[in-house]
Amino acid sequence: MNRCRVCNNGVMEEQLVETWMCRAGKWVLFRNVPATVCNICGERTFSQEVAERLATMLDSGDSEYPTSFDYVPVFTAPHQWNSRT
Ligand SMILES: [Zn+2]
Repeated sequence: MNRCRVCNNGVMEEQLVETWMCRAGKWVLFRNVPATVCNICGERTFSQEVAERLATMLDSGDSEYPTSFDYVPVFTAPHQWNSRT
């Protein structure tokens, strides 16, 4: 059994997850990515092989691989949220 290294309580389980990566200032969403996920704290790890495939896909350009484009709402936190000023 594979224990979580972060919380030391959870068990790492194989799951397909969504993950965001940033390339040249643009966010890219990957779906159905195999990962191991902690069932308690949610810590995720990707195998070396999967991480390399994600990086390859990310570097390959904008038009070759995406299966769809989703519009993502973007929020900018107002300056008032910075309470230390
Ligand atoms: Zn954990």
